[in-house]
Amino acid sequence: MSDCIFCMIANGDIPARVVLDEGDIMAFDDIAPQGPVHTLIIPKHHYAHMGDDVPSGMMAALFSAVPRIAAMKGIAESGYRVIVNNGADAAQTVAHLHVHVIGGKPMAHGMVRFESGE
Ligand code: AMP
Repeated sequence: MSDCIFCMIANGDIPARVVLDEGDIMAFDDIAPQGPVHTLIIPKHHYAHMGDDVPSGMMAALFSAVPRIAAMKGIAESGYRVIVNNGADAAQTVAHLHVHVIGGKPMAHGMVRFESGE
């Protein structure tokens, strides 16, 4: 997709701090990291959401890259959080499927915070 920022990164049209470039997937550091380590794993092909007929092999490739990214970043032992924001209610801001790998220091318990404060 020509107007998709992650497609542009996948195509090499805009720069990113690439951590892994392997077959149909790549990983790069988030531009606005939420922790000492914050890396995004994407399919090079454009899928906006998880429900967009993403092949199971692609899902496997994305998630099997997670522990390897964690090892590369030195957080395999200390732990990390893996997040996919999917769609509007999840506050997905880039409509290109991506897996967040976040870690590097202890996080608070829990993982969901609704706008309503519940
Ligand atoms: P989400 O809110 O789950 O859609 O996450 C999108 C993520 O993409 C956010 O954490 C952004 O900081 C990140 N992001 C946006 N543009 C770029 C970019 N050019 N390079 C790296 N990360 C980006």
